[in-house]
Amino acid sequence: MNKINTDPIFEKGHKAEGKYGKNFTGQVWLKTLVEQNGEWNCTIGNVTFEPGCRNNWHKHPGGQILLVTGGRGWFQEWSKEAREIYPGDVVKIPADTKHWHGAVKNCCLTHLYVTTNVNKGPTEWMEPVSEETYNKLK
Ligand code: MN
Repeated sequence: MNKINTDPIFEKGHKAEGKYGKNFTGQVWLKTLVEQNGEWNCTIGNVTFEPGCRNNWHKHPGGQILLVTGGRGWFQEWSKEAREIYPGDVVKIPADTKHWHGAVKNCCLTHLYVTTNVNKGPTEWMEPVSEETYNKLK
């Protein structure tokens, strides 16, 4: 009988702390897979949000694509309803669009990010997602 392999495909990396950890509520793990350089004009990494963890509202000047690989989470654009995201989902976030992403309350979320057109500037971090906004999601 085949045994299902539940090991993560990409490295989980390290717990975010310090300056970068301030952009999150809860515990997040990060592994950069493709560094910023002039060849591809994008950065790629693996992010694992522990249950209840999410990032602050933020914008990417050159856009971002999320490829969900595990667990269950939320994605929300400013002034729109949050939507639940699952493994296999591809979330295309246009440039300069205020949004957040993170895990549901009772389950981790793992996604790859591809931050595109990074020559247009760094991610702009904003306020945390309020407890009120997060807690009403179901
Ligand atoms: Mn983002």
